[in-house]
This record gives sequence, C-alpha cells and structure tokens, in this order.
Amino acid sequence: MNKAQIKKIKETLVKKKSLVFDQLDIKGKEQVFQFCENYKIFLDRSKTEKEAAREIVRAAKQKGFVDIDTLLTKKNKPSQKVYKLFQGRCVALATIGKKLPHLGVNIIASHIDSPRLDLKQNPIYEDLSIGLMKTHYYGGIRKYHWLAMPLALHGTIMKSNNERLDITIGEHPDDPVFTITDLLPHLAGKTQSTKNISEVFEGEKLNLVVGSMPLGDEDEKERFKLGVLNCLYQKYGITEEDFVSAEIEAVPSEKARDVGFDRSMIGAYGQDDRSCAFSSLEAFLDSESPEKTTIALFFDKEEIGSEGSSGAKSNFLEDFMSDLLYISGENTDNRSLRKALIHSSCLSADVNAAMDPDFKDVHEAMNAAKLGFGVCMTKFTGVGGKSGSSDAGSEFVGKIRQIFNKNHIVWQTGELGKIDQGGGGTVAKFLAKYGMNVLDCGPALLSMHSPFEISNKADIYMTYLAYKAFYTDND
Ligand code: MN
Ligand code: MN
Repeated sequence: MNKAQIKKIKETLVKKKSLVFDQLDIKGKEQVFQFCENYKIFLDRSKTEKEAAREIVRAAKQKGFVDIDTLLTKKNKPSQKVYKLFQGRCVALATIGKKLPHLGVNIIASHIDSPRLDLKQNPIYEDLSIGLMKTHYYGGIRKYHWLAMPLALHGTIMKSNNERLDITIGEHPDDPVFTITDLLPHLAGKTQSTKNISEVFEGEKLNLVVGSMPLGDEDEKERFKLGVLNCLYQKYGITEEDFVSAEIEAVPSEKARDVGFDRSMIGAYGQDDRSCAFSSLEAFLDSESPEKTTIALFFDKEEIGSEGSSGAKSNFLEDFMSDLLYISGENTDNRSLRKALIHSSCLSADVNAAMDPDFKDVHEAMNAAKLGFGVCMTKFTGVGGKSGSSDAGSEFVGKIRQIFNKNHIVWQTGELGKIDQGGGGTVAKFLAKYGMNVLDCGPALLSMHSPFEISNKADIYMTYLAYKAFYTDND
C-alpha cells in the first residue's frame, strides 16, 4: 500500500476528535459569543431553583406560552404552547407537534437546583460579639470552597400571617454580603495538619457572619443576636420564628464572568446544571412547529437524589403528560398515558466533568470529556460496575449520533472518572423507568460543584445546537 492509500484508510477508519473552535467559521464564532452573553444574564438571574423557574416561565410567556391549568376547563381555547410551573421550583414546557402526544414526545430534562448552603430552621445566634447564622449544606460540596468569600442570601420566608416574602440580599453592588470565616495559616498548622480534609472542614462550622452591632447595653443578654433580629424586623418585618417556615439559600454573590485573555470560557456558580437548563430552554423555544410534540423539563432536587415532590422521582411528568393528552383531546386513561411515555425519547441534559490538567489521574484519558470538544454524550453514569445507572442502549445512542452528525454537531463522549474512582448520577434513570430511551447529554465543566464552575463557550453553544437538532430531527 502506498502512503496515499494508508492516508485514505486512516481518514475513513479512525474516529475523529474535533475542537469546536476549529470547526466554526467567523460567523459561527460570533454566534457562540452572542449566545453566551444571554447565558450569563440567565445565570445571574437564576441562582436558585425558584429564580431559574421564574426566568424559564418568563421566557416562555414572552413567546406566547400559556399556563396549562387554564386550559383544563372547556371554556378556554386550546393552545399548542403550554407551560406548567409546579410549587414554584420545577417547570415543564410543551409544544404540541403535528403528531399528537400519544405517539410519543421528545423530552429534554435538566435540573435547576445547585449545591449551596441552606439556612437552618433555628439559624441565629451570637458568639464572641458576632451575630451568626447556622447553615446546612445542600448537595455535594467541598466545604472549604465556601470559606472567606462573599455570599448572598436568596429565598422565601412565610411569615406567621402566611404572608410571603422573597428576599435577595448581596447581589446589588450596594447590598451587604455575608461570609464564613476561615482559619489564618499562621495558626492552622497544629489544629489542621494532622487531620484529613473531611475532618478539617466540618459542616457545623459553616456559619455565616451576619452582624456585630449590639442592641442595648452591656448587661443585655445575647445583645448581638438581638441586634441582628432587630435589623431583620426593621427591614423585612420578620421574627426569629419566621425562619422555621423559610427557605434561604446562601450562594456566591459573584456574577458570571468571562475567563481567559480570549474570553473563551465562563466562570460562574450553578452551571451544573443551568448550562443545560438554559441551552435546552433556548433550543426548545427556537424549535417552533415541530413534527413531534416537544417537552422541556426543569427539575429540582437532583443534587440530593431527585427526591421530593419537585424532583425527577415525583409524578410531575406523568401529571403533565396526562394534561397534555387531555388538552389535545386524546384518551387520558392510564394505558394511554403509559403508551405516550413509553413511546417518548429523552435527553437527560446534565453536565459531565472535563478532564482537568492538574488532576488528570482521576480520569481515563481515552474516555474522559475534554473542554472545548463539544457536547458530551454520556452513555452511562453510576459507581463501580455502572451501579445506579440506566445505561443507554446502542440503538438510541446510534440514533442520537446520526442526528448529531447530520446536523454537524461537534460531539464527544464522556465517562465520569476512572473505573472505581468515584462516580455520580443524573435524572436519566428516573425517566428511563417509563420505558422511554434516555441518554445523558450536556457540556463538560471544570471545577464542577465549586462556587466558580468553568465552561467553554463553544461547548455551551454546541449543546444548544445539539438539543435543537434533537427536537427537530428525532422523529
Ligand atoms: Mn447535574
Ligand atoms: Mn451536580
């Protein structure tokens, strides 16, 4: 064989790996940066699941989507574009296609909760003339990430008279922020050097500094705590007991930022999984009049195992699907609902870990996702021998691969870490239980689950294009 023949064989047989930026022309690159400007705005407005849900519903309403609940009485006109906001913290959007829902729908499911620190129900106390608040972390965090940095408080308080109060403190440049203190290096040696990392950073030491002005004179008991309570009452009309019925989340107050001299990356809190939430939202809204009915799902509680009434283990999808059948004039009995679900297909839209130049050894290079190489298909997740994974079938992976190739999507595959190194899961298996095909698919991040996760802008844009291709071409 001559050199030209070998070259041809190589080009035909060997799998290619493409960097998104290599594949884009000038216009394509411009689109990447433009798309990510809107993505950053979404990130800044959506630091909690409730805020993300609100942003998603707002965007849908702007495009003419109506609350599905208003269509369930016969008086109202049917609509092809509907949304359901459930408990203010999980959302479903649907566009009824030319084919009715019983023939199966195309679903993209992401989650809008992120790791954070929640205030406890009895949070306020004082120690050494400082007013403090106790937190309980939510999701998988590295506790040391949260020390000595500015934090904002976002959330809802239900007062004793059932009045609802939504607060956001620490986002505006004039707002105060809150922080958790860290031990100075000068004194850390003896206390920390002999301990392992999980012992050094304790959950019960993640306490927020919230004030230092006393109320009353020296013989007043707990006057620093009283100072904080008085502040809270003056500003928000809330009492100590109101925290019992509150959900307040401490999140990084920093805004989404461009990273790198070339501004090719984004650093921000909550990109797991709001990168997928945003790109699926945009893909969904841009796929008007689809053949098959399309659904975009935005779940809560993924970071704590998809539990609860707003997580992927709940009946939210079944309920929404049965409403879709109803407004489409189709059978809504149990059998029809199950058939609609079993005939559906789903991309579980979640992030994977990008291989980190400083921690290469936890990955297996041939199968790890890399920053900049496009949207990542993750056939299986789980731990050990794929335990806890739904593992997508070759037929469905093949179908998605065809759709992506046809639409010139730059894609890669990803496995979360070396075998037996650790692992994780997504919402995939909770949708797979209905019998539908599910594949995990999303961008890869560096510093995943940290307060400053890093994504590549081209990957984010490619994820959007991939989701759009799925909505448009999966028939
Ligand atoms: Mn995730
Ligand atoms: Mn996560």
